[in-house]
Parts: sequence; C-alpha cells; structure tokens
Amino acid sequence: MIRAAASRQAGWAPVREELARWQDAQCVARLWLRDDDAVAVTPLLIRLSSLCAGSGVPWLVAAVPCHASEELAGWLAEQPLAEAAAHGWTHRNHAMPGARKQEFPVERPGTEIRHELGLARARLGALFGAKGVPILVPPWNRIGPEVAALLPDLGYRALSTLGRKPVFQAPAPIRELNAHIDIIDWRGSRGGGDPDELAAGLARELAWARGGGQPAVGILTHHLVHDTAAWRFLEELFAETASHGAVRWSRASELIGAGSRSA
Ligand SMILES: [Zn+2]
Repeated sequence: MIRAAASRQAGWAPVREELARWQDAQCVARLWLRDDDAVAVTPLLIRLSSLCAGSGVPWLVAAVPCHASEELAGWLAEQPLAEAAAHGWTHRNHAMPGARKQEFPVERPGTEIRHELGLARARLGALFGAKGVPILVPPWNRIGPEVAALLPDLGYRALSTLGRKPVFQAPAPIRELNAHIDIIDWRGSRGGGDPDELAAGLARELAWARGGGQPAVGILTHHLVHDTAAWRFLEELFAETASHGAVRWSRASELIGAGSRSA
C-alpha cells in the first residue's frame, strides 16, 4: 500500500508529521476533493474517477449545468464515489471590462442573476437527481456576499470557493465548504504545481484545521488540464492519505450535512 518514499515526487514529510499530530491527539482529519469544469465524459474525467475509485476517495464534480450532457449524468450515476455540484450556470465571464473574471458580478441585474442561479439549481437536480448536492461552486471561485445571499432561497445549501477566507462574516446565511489546495499552477506551467509546495501547503491547512480553523481541507483539481505532474501528485496524495488512520476522505454531502449515502 505505502510505496517506498524514495519513489515519491513530493516531499511528504510535513504532511506525515502533521498527520502524526492528529493521530497523537486521536483526531481524524477530514479531506475532500472538488474537481471543476466537467461538461462531458472525457478520458481525463474517467481517469480521475478511476484514480479516486482505486483509493476509495469520494469526489465532487463541479459541472457546468447549462452545458453538462445527459451522458455525463448517466455516467456519473454509475460512479459510486462521485457527487455533482453546480459550477455556475454557463461559466461565462460577465465581469466589467478590466475586472477579474466572474459569472455573477454584483453589477449584473439582480433578476438576471437570480434567474440563472435558479436555472442552475433546477438543472442540477434534473440532470443528476440524488447525486446532485445543492452546492454552488462559482466559476473562478468568485462571488460577492450580496449575490451569495440569494442562494438559500434558491435551494442551495452551501457555497464552495477557494481558500480560507469565507465570503461571509459570521453569521453566514449559507454554509461554506471551501477547497484550499489548488493543484494546478495557473500562473506558471498551467499544469500540476510544485509538489513540495503543494504538500507543504496541505500540511499548513491540516494544521489550521487541527487548531479549529476549518472543519475540512479541500483539494481542488481540474481534470481537463492535468499533466503528468498533476496526476502524479494526486496519486501520491492518495497513497499517503487514503489508508491513513488519522484521515477520512469525506463526501461533500456529508460535510454540509445534506445527508450522506452509503458508498
Ligand atoms: Zn471553472
């Protein structure tokens, strides 16, 4: 199960040391996986599913509701560890010129935003049925509190962006289940990030969680752009953690209390 450390690409020592602290404290770290931008069944998506299945790791597919195919829904229904969330509605950029990309900037008419978020929620249910978890994953991980405040009335139970910083200050009108470690180096190679830095980042997020900073640590993937380094990091991550006594890879539905189903 555990391969020789020498064959690993990343320096896993910080993660091992941090997980030993969890073990000493008799606590279990929650990890979860979010994969963005699915619209169709592709060889890369199948590869990710196989990788997760091989290690028993549940994963959340952030699918673009407007473009997601029936075929994707049918295929996902047969992946016991997969769940789906709404990744925006069309994943189109509506930001003002010069502003950072965003699908639902506050400058858009409220009625339009409400309509599209409602369509996304409805399509998530219609396409994925019980596999659809009522989570909005805003494209580019950006959404303002004014817009996010609309979500509960539209049937969403949670919001997922990137990083420790929540969209809302407490009390929040909706749960936030964020990813923390984006394995892609978007500003550099646009493939897998530096494995040592990713592992060190994971150790830091786990330590923050151990101190009560966050209930779970989320890993973010983008199957469509995975290169050898990205796949290798995921393989190593699963080899390090999937059978670790102080780790529980969790379903997003379980983490937001939306009812977990048996694997
Ligand atoms: Zn996206």
